[in-house]
Amino acid sequence: MPFAPVTDSIVRELCAICGDARVIFGDASRLARYGRDQVPEKHLHVPPEVVVMPGSAAEVQAVMRLANRALVPVTPRGAGSGLSGGAIPVHGGICLSMERMDRILEVDTANLVAVVEPGVVTNRLDEVLKPLGLFFAGYPMSEEVCTLGGNAAHNAGGGRAVKYGVTRRYITGLEVVTPAGELLTLGGKRFKDVTGYDLLGLLVGSEGTLGIFTRITIRLLPRPRYRRSLLVLFDGVQPAIETVPEIVIKGRMVPASIEFMDRISFQEACRSLREGIPYQRAGAAMLLESDGSHEAQVAAEARMMESVCLARGPLDVFAADSEEESGRFWKIRKQIPWTLKTLATHSSIEDIVVPVGAIPAIIGKIQALSSQYAVRIPVFGHAGDGNLHAHPLKDPGQTEAAWYDLIPRLLSDLYRETAALGGTISGEHGIGSKRRGYLRLVMDAGQIELLRKIKNVMDPNGILNPGKIFD
Ligand SMILES: Cc1cc2nc3c(=O)[nH]c(=O)nc-3n(C[C@H](O)[C@H](O)[C@H](O)COP(=O)(O)OP(=O)(O)OC[C@H]3O[C@@H](n4cnc5c(N)ncnc54)[C@H](O)[C@@H]3O)c2cc1C
Repeated sequence: MPFAPVTDSIVRELCAICGDARVIFGDASRLARYGRDQVPEKHLHVPPEVVVMPGSAAEVQAVMRLANRALVPVTPRGAGSGLSGGAIPVHGGICLSMERMDRILEVDTANLVAVVEPGVVTNRLDEVLKPLGLFFAGYPMSEEVCTLGGNAAHNAGGGRAVKYGVTRRYITGLEVVTPAGELLTLGGKRFKDVTGYDLLGLLVGSEGTLGIFTRITIRLLPRPRYRRSLLVLFDGVQPAIETVPEIVIKGRMVPASIEFMDRISFQEACRSLREGIPYQRAGAAMLLESDGSHEAQVAAEARMMESVCLARGPLDVFAADSEEESGRFWKIRKQIPWTLKTLATHSSIEDIVVPVGAIPAIIGKIQALSSQYAVRIPVFGHAGDGNLHAHPLKDPGQTEAAWYDLIPRLLSDLYRETAALGGTISGEHGIGSKRRGYLRLVMDAGQIELLRKIKNVMDPNGILNPGKIFD
């Protein structure tokens, strides 16, 4: 569908809805900031024609009514920390930035829920919940920068998803503005609901293409009182990665975290942090964690994970009992995506997911692709969920043209290998604009057609976040 441009009269209407100070227009450098997220591929960045920052659901409704009438595309945006180009306005139009809607409206300790606006930075909710002994367990590892609206739109998962699951499990209610500007209220503070189709489940993870979240109700859990973290260094990838199915499947326990870091990821992150841990010999590292309310059980689970690792002859095992020590291990893990981005002028952060038992096999396939394409592909990620971030890096000797010729072929091969093992192309980052051309590798035509029909019912004019998910 052809879209209309943003005219002066549309800008005037946006100013009338949200206020002049809440509209950015005609300032190329400020607009450019809203034209990117954290995908490293600069050619995917596109600035919006105008940015608008609504302060209420009523203002979002008015913006959507205007855009729907004028056929101007609208791209919702949280913090822009996404890794699939989801918040990039690929067709220009209006960037709907939710940054002003950042209030924590209620922490209802009687019902164990929090009600928030979408622009709340995820970690800010955690700071409020900490003294209450509660937490939102579905948070991603970008918690210091991302927003709860972005988490809901991407159905984010994080370093503890192996035990606690991902965001969808914790969203019990959503207030949503539809592309036509209507207001829907789905769910609420109740934890169970099988009344009709699961619209809440459909909206969470819809990547800003079906509706705009203006209020989110989040289920809270008691914060675990004890946790024990292990950082285990191995001389190679294989012994490290083979611990994953052993802990998850044979161990008959559910650890809080099983994070994998290969040699490049681990060593480069440690180096950039000037870490004192003797990382130079490590060929791979695992960050394992158990948590809970009973100290003895947490300790027993940590011992079990340690014994699985010891059977594979690790180089070193470091254990952390305090928040501070465990924070040090997590700092290394969290540093990896930031460091890898600096290692090459061009790279691609991937997000494949396979059944846990297939983790060693997919690592072998990635190593084979690395040799075949003569490209370094560091790998790290949430191995306990089978979710790995392979990160191909352009070789300095390679021309830009050679890289752009190579990367689609490499990704197609990676995704085909992933699918052949029962996996798929994104576990948490989403399809966005970055992966839309590859959806058909993992979904049959009938499924894609059904997704399109759903999109069409919700957004007949196709104005909400076009150019995402579908080719
Ligand atoms: C270093 C790093 C680590 C990361 N680790 C993780 C991780 O562990 N797990 C994980 O899942 N992700 C991770 N991410 C990716 C990213 O942080 C998450 O996808 C996050 O949920 C995006 O939130 P955001 O506020 O930045 O959303 P944005 O990037 O601004 O937007 C993401 C999508 O949500 C839509 N959207 C935003 N707000 C709304 C709204 N109110 N209503 C409807 N749609 C909306 C946008 O249109 C877009 O499609 C990481 C990113 C980085 C840079």
